[in-house]
Amino acid sequence: MEIRKEVKVEKIVGFTCDICKKPCNHTTEEPEAFEYATLHGHWGYFSGKDQQDHECHMCENCYDEVKEFVDKLGGQVRVRHYDLLTGHLLKEE
Ligand SMILES: [Zn+2]
Repeated sequence: MEIRKEVKVEKIVGFTCDICKKPCNHTTEEPEAFEYATLHGHWGYFSGKDQQDHECHMCENCYDEVKEFVDKLGGQVRVRHYDLLTGHLLKEE
């Protein structure tokens, strides 16, 4: 016989921008509640950041500034267009 009990479960409902401290999402309705950008670094033994993981969540405005900086450096941000409902990749730039 199963023993059941009602329990509270925390879940992620959105993100706060680590730069400007504003909410990344424009609404709390899904799936837009999960609109955010991430700057992520995963570093190994031979790097200067031995076995560290770096992460920064960004709102759209802060992301645009970071992307502009990457563009200025001559870098490239890979852009993938996908179908929101199916998750299928539509095109890649
Ligand atoms: Zn921001």
